[in-house]
Amino acid sequence: MSTAIIFSDDYLKHDTGHHPERRERYRAVLNGLMADEDLWQSFVKLPPRAATDDQLERCHTARSIARVHQACEQAMMFEHVQLDADTVVSEQSDVAARLAAGGACRAVDAVVAGEAENAFVACRPPGHHATVGQAMGFCLYNNVAIAARYAQAAYPTEIKKVLIVDFDVHHGNGTQDIFYGDPSVFYYSLHQFPWYPGTGDARERGVREGEGFTLNVPIQAGTSAEDYLQLFEQGLETAMKTLAPDLVMISAGFDAHVADPLGQLVLTDDSYARMTRRLKEAARISGKGRIVSCLEGGYNLQTMGETVRAHVAALEN
Ligand SMILES: [Zn+2]
Repeated sequence: MSTAIIFSDDYLKHDTGHHPERRERYRAVLNGLMADEDLWQSFVKLPPRAATDDQLERCHTARSIARVHQACEQAMMFEHVQLDADTVVSEQSDVAARLAAGGACRAVDAVVAGEAENAFVACRPPGHHATVGQAMGFCLYNNVAIAARYAQAAYPTEIKKVLIVDFDVHHGNGTQDIFYGDPSVFYYSLHQFPWYPGTGDARERGVREGEGFTLNVPIQAGTSAEDYLQLFEQGLETAMKTLAPDLVMISAGFDAHVADPLGQLVLTDDSYARMTRRLKEAARISGKGRIVSCLEGGYNLQTMGETVRAHVAALEN
């Protein structure tokens, strides 16, 4: 079975101006995927849907959703409005952000219905820093978290347990926050530490019934790719032993790449291909091979297209 790609030029509607998380990233990703014609032809290509209030409210407070909406309205007058020091919106950012979260939900539908075995969502803005109550760190809504909760709500028989693997160079504090007390969603992150946003110490393991269902693997700047992959494997084994997932989701950030300007790790395209193949094996053992991978970070416009292609080609093969 094939791989679905969810994409839309409407992701360009989130105009951040001169910012690392800029519109050109989307073009770089699409150009990277299209550069291999045979691969591009093999994809099931799907447009995203807009996430509904109900879907967003499974992860975010009504107040935080309204705050994003209001900031976009203000941006009609001021062009750009800051939600925090790093997070900027323009008039149509809410449209793009709802399509990012809704695109991840569309990908869930595709893998559960068998339209494709797995899926990659070429979305922006990213999501993993958006907490229950706060848009932050370039993120408006937590795409992966919203899709995980959507999967459980829409497909209660098929999808009970979800594993989220986050290999973005930054800790996904938002995803951790949303599922910290929830034993039905295992959150596994490898990230440079200490680094933005400051969370993700190995002692952060979840609370109450969720204790043991958060796994943080802090990685020192400059750690070799081989050492990183060994830690990745150990963590994945722990995660799979703790929770046999019905669905694997990936917070696919590519900013742990050696060429990325926002991180100090040294992964290569091959490292991403190897992690992806390993996640495919894991998902086939538990979860019928279902993987939904969502674009998070990755800021080198020259290299990230090829890196994303290495990841998605490994999903497809
Ligand atoms: Zn990142």
